[in-house]
Amino acid sequence: MTGDPTIVLDIYGNNAAVICPSCGKVFVFSGFLDKKRGRVCPHCMGSRATVYDNKLSVTKH
Ligand SMILES: [Zn+2]
Repeated sequence: MTGDPTIVLDIYGNNAAVICPSCGKVFVFSGFLDKKRGRVCPHCMGSRATVYDNKLSVTKH
């Protein structure tokens, strides 16, 4: 883990709009739908948003 800074643009309820650290595009993370496995960036598949201890992070992989 290199700890790319996680940029969260907006949070609404259980949903968060984040910037992919790999391609720089925005995608939405759902704390309800994606809580267990996280969500891979739908644009480049190069990062994953996950929640751990109620803390959202987006990491390249
Ligand atoms: Zn991406």
